[in-house]
Amino acid sequence: MKVYADNAATTKISKTALDAMMPCYTEIYGNPSSLHQVGQEAFHAVRDAREMMAKCLNCDTDELYFTSGGSESDNWAIKGAAHLMAKKGKKHIISSKFEHHAVLHTLNALEKEGFEITLLDVYENGLVKVEDVKNAIREDTALVTVMYANNEIGTVQPIREIGAVCREKGVLFHTDAVQAVGHIPVDVKADNIDMMSLSGHKFHGPKGIGALYCKKGIRLPNLIEGGAQERNRRAGTENVPAIVGMAAALKEACDNMEENTKKLVAMREQLINGILKIDASRINGDRDHRLPGNVSACFEGVEGESLLLYLDLAGISASSGSACTSGSLDPSHVLLAIGLPHEVAHGSLRLSICEENTPEQMDYIIEQLPPIINRLRDMSPLWERIQNERK
Ligand SMILES: *Cc1c(COP(=O)(O)O)cnc(C)c1O
Repeated sequence: MKVYADNAATTKISKTALDAMMPCYTEIYGNPSSLHQVGQEAFHAVRDAREMMAKCLNCDTDELYFTSGGSESDNWAIKGAAHLMAKKGKKHIISSKFEHHAVLHTLNALEKEGFEITLLDVYENGLVKVEDVKNAIREDTALVTVMYANNEIGTVQPIREIGAVCREKGVLFHTDAVQAVGHIPVDVKADNIDMMSLSGHKFHGPKGIGALYCKKGIRLPNLIEGGAQERNRRAGTENVPAIVGMAAALKEACDNMEENTKKLVAMREQLINGILKIDASRINGDRDHRLPGNVSACFEGVEGESLLLYLDLAGISASSGSACTSGSLDPSHVLLAIGLPHEVAHGSLRLSICEENTPEQMDYIIEQLPPIINRLRDMSPLWERIQNERK
């Protein structure tokens, strides 16, 4: 059996999205800036896509900027807001310890420029405390940036409440909502969000396309100079097929969200219950405030990378959330941020499912896991030590 359970890394493009894109390669291939009919057809396609997305997110069309994806949107929003507010003498930024690297590395770069960064704790449940945000805000705070849902452990943050605190204190609020948009209800107005990043390929749209929502009145510096695209702020001929595909995917995800959520939560709980039957296992992050399709687990005495290899041999695509693959032996900064000891964090497994997965596939995962884990533990000196300590 083949099981793709790595939807937090990327998703398969939906048929609806692909069908919407195809004519943009074959017929509607004009440049949206061209005044002739072929160009105007492309212009209309981009305009319609923007309208569709704005409706899904509850914003105005001129508050949406198309970008190349989540990383670009994060970079633009955070660097842009920082430089905007620095002109007013505000050089303090608040974020959390378990943000995506697109946010954390951007903050590192700003720190080198002279900005002061406060990274909030996320505690064992993987949640930021609204009270901590409130307490961290100072006179010179330029920006608060906290992710909507975490990409490794799937915990969903109290975004609406954090946004309300920022509004009250007059501080800009950005959220990396790449894992949330298309998966849980997101409403930029109700959620008190000033800026928000999203990415097409995380909700069954194409790769290399995303958007930044930026509330009217916030004059972010231009990202790319050149033509007049994206209201002069991000020049370059629009990626028409990708924009159209992303919009179709988002509408489909939002239209089917309730039904999908029911299906996903049932499969997620099936996985969690099966995993917790395994000796010395744990589920990471709050059980209730989490994405419908995310399961993050740790198995003591198991090396996450080896676990992934064996699962792959069994046809199961998953992820470990450990940074070992990038050449570093440090475990994931997310798992360390929620207080896991290094050796436990090393044995991590992230299963991220989508509505195309089936309960039979979940049974298959639960059936495959125990023998693989036993095999790895049999070879592990760490497991032997844990066993001896238990006696
Ligand atoms: C995937 C992801 C990103 C990066 O998005 P890209 O479109 O791949 O650049 C940023 N933040 C989070 C939380 C993500 O999951």
